Amino acid sequence: SLLRTPDFWHKENSKRCYEKAKEFLPGGVTANIKHFPPYPITMKRGEGAYIVDVDDNRYIDLLMGYGALALGHGHQKIKEAIEEQFQIDGTHLFGTPHEKEVSFAKRLQEHMPSLEKIRYTNSGTEATLLAVRLAYAYTGKKKIAKFEGHYHGGFEEVLYSITPTISEAGPGENPHPVPESSEIEAGTDEDTVILPFNQIEDCKNILRRYKDELAAVIVEPVQGGFIPASRSFMKQLREVTKELGIVLIFDEVKTGFRTGLQGAQGFYNIKPDLTALGKVIGGGFPFGVVGGKDEIMMESSPNKGKDLFDAQTAKQAANKSDVLFHSGTYNGHPMILAAGHATLDVLEHEYHDTEKRTNQFRKALEDMFSAYGYPMITVGTGTIFSVVLTEKERLINYRDFQKTNLQLRKQFDYCMLREGVYTKPLNRYSMATVHGDDVIESILQSTERVLQRGGL
Ligand code: PLP
Repeated sequence: SLLRTPDFWHKENSKRCYEKAKEFLPGGVTANIKHFPPYPITMKRGEGAYIVDVDDNRYIDLLMGYGALALGHGHQKIKEAIEEQFQIDGTHLFGTPHEKEVSFAKRLQEHMPSLEKIRYTNSGTEATLLAVRLAYAYTGKKKIAKFEGHYHGGFEEVLYSITPTISEAGPGENPHPVPESSEIEAGTDEDTVILPFNQIEDCKNILRRYKDELAAVIVEPVQGGFIPASRSFMKQLREVTKELGIVLIFDEVKTGFRTGLQGAQGFYNIKPDLTALGKVIGGGFPFGVVGGKDEIMMESSPNKGKDLFDAQTAKQAANKSDVLFHSGTYNGHPMILAAGHATLDVLEHEYHDTEKRTNQFRKALEDMFSAYGYPMITVGTGTIFSVVLTEKERLINYRDFQKTNLQLRKQFDYCMLREGVYTKPLNRYSMATVHGDDVIESILQSTERVLQRGGL
């Protein structure tokens, strides 16, 4: 392999790239999440479990595109699928219906039967946005409820209380909406209600108070991809939203094909009304899916599902404002659906082994931290988890997580970067099929060196 392992931290070129990038990109980045001090590391190539930076340092990648790469970098099956699609459709895009739109929808539905009808989008954010708009259209109501600490992408209604400081976030049983973005003024939050995760009685009180105005509750069933809802919380959240006529949206952008092949809805055995998916199913390309109950999804159907052959009636129906607008030049992109099919081809065979290796890895990390006297738990489900430095045995929500030793975790991450194990500091570990036993052993050796040095 052309790749080489670094035994020291050498990043002069990364630093230069960052200085150059700042001339053209605000903060030198194209997404704020890519930034971290003193400057982000610029990568130039990836291969399987590895990525290489512009200084030729090689890292084992545990970020995996924020969880999107379930097969690692440059998987042969994805390459082949894309090349084959390119042969069929050299322009990349038909702009018409095509067969893979249906075959991929059918395949997703086989894994998640709650997806009675499906629409494609170009990102997870677009998927959660469409899900929320479908709920507005279906219920005729105007507010949504989201959980404190949950992330659903970058549009106004959900840009509240993702990373609030506890002092501004109000009481734990009834959190205040805290704007997450500078252009949103405090006090403009009347359409977003904040719920405390894993606190069902408090949630029920809030939901009952706002039931006549709430179109939807949107939830990450596993917060941030790592803190799971309790089974009883999820069951009761399903029951109470059904009772109050509120659409329950599962944001499975992270958990889809990571918390099992049936996603979090399979893990909890709960049928949400709507589901948003993204990340893994795009095989590394920009993609999103909204699926759910037929009668809600049909809000976006031109002609509301009637087959209208009569041109005049069709025109009238299409112009009617009771059809929810949903369109997009790239929706159902054939290349991405080809990559999605290839990803599922592999995962259907290799997911369970990856999950098993993830669990063994988690156990080995916990044992190792414990042996060196650092209280630590791994928190997660399926093939995604986080290393949490705490004396607690479990976490239930954002406020709990904020009380853990985030500073020490950050130090650990920087030490691991120096060792050639990559994650954005404080991020989750997203495992891929290419993290075999040898790769995991190598991460464990790096971990042991860091703990041994006591550099934390
Ligand atoms: N929802 C969740 C749970 C996510 O984790 C993310 C992205 O991290 C999104 C939505 C937004 O997806 P995207 O970044 O593809 O817009």
